[in-house]
Amino acid sequence: MPEGSRLADDRRRVTSELSSHRSSDGRFVNPWSDSTPPTFRDVITWSRTRRSTPRTQPVLPVHVQPDIVIPRAATDTLSATWVGHSTVLLQMGALNVLTDPMWSARASPVQWAGPHRLTTPGVTLDARPPIDVVLLSHNHYDHLDAASVRAIARRHPAARWFAPLGVARYVRRWGARAVTELDWWNTVDADGLRVACVPAQHASGRTPFDRMRTLWCGWTLRGGQHNIYFAGDTAYHPEFGEVASRYGPFDVCVLPVGAYEPRWFMRPVHVNPDEAVRAYTDIARAHPAAAPPIALAVHWGTFSLADEPVDEPPRRAAVAWSAAGLAPENLWILSLGETRHVPPRGA
Ligand code: ZN
Ligand code: ZN
Repeated sequence: MPEGSRLADDRRRVTSELSSHRSSDGRFVNPWSDSTPPTFRDVITWSRTRRSTPRTQPVLPVHVQPDIVIPRAATDTLSATWVGHSTVLLQMGALNVLTDPMWSARASPVQWAGPHRLTTPGVTLDARPPIDVVLLSHNHYDHLDAASVRAIARRHPAARWFAPLGVARYVRRWGARAVTELDWWNTVDADGLRVACVPAQHASGRTPFDRMRTLWCGWTLRGGQHNIYFAGDTAYHPEFGEVASRYGPFDVCVLPVGAYEPRWFMRPVHVNPDEAVRAYTDIARAHPAAAPPIALAVHWGTFSLADEPVDEPPRRAAVAWSAAGLAPENLWILSLGETRHVPPRGA
């Protein structure tokens, strides 16, 4: 009897410790219905069809001169500068924040093969102001880049890095010092900042042997007068409204809009522009009395990772945005290097 009850207790304890997005073998899972990422077999099937997909010359995003304040902006200002892909420099008052820093020529374990950059970064490594916070969404090569992490860790040793479960070891190995690893719905308060790790529907892995071994996530960051949401890589899922209820209202939402075709393959891991707009409306609806956040469209125009034309995501995003009746000035599709300032809230 004592034996049996101890077993039950252990089982209960283990069950409560295992969150819904962690399976018993230590891998992570998307906890929602119909959210299983493509299998290796799916990758093979897709790569066969991909070769025959006709490609026309896309119109790539152009470069403009950034308007970054070095070293730091005034406390009442908030701006975003698009470096390319999911890399954004946010100047949240005097706080300088980078999302998924990716400066390398290829999103790949090696620099002689794998997806190559179609457009150069909009901000050079040397033109960056001191970096205070780096938000990392997951370990895919187009988001977690060893050379970029090393360069930032060397130039900005005081930067604080935030990573989902399992990802801190990479960045520590590459020289980052202050690294905080969080699970979904965990928050950290430090020096007037509140950082929250929030759910995303995606996948992870850098080799054929580590699929789903580390977590993927989005981030919210409140600092001073400003509050931002970086969605990472994600499919549409049911928690966008809950993220906003808990941590919003946001001034800026950095949302992915690219790498969505073919849908049978990409739908479980990447939103298409229509779903990005749906996610945005879930977020905005959570705080109907607040000024609607800016949606900054990223994850396009930099690497060709899917079957849609590289220049299609912003066009489709603009169509979906307008069809949803949203104010055009709140959808930001930036040029590379472009800095845009968020108007004061309520203005
Ligand atoms: Zn990814
Ligand atoms: Zn990605």
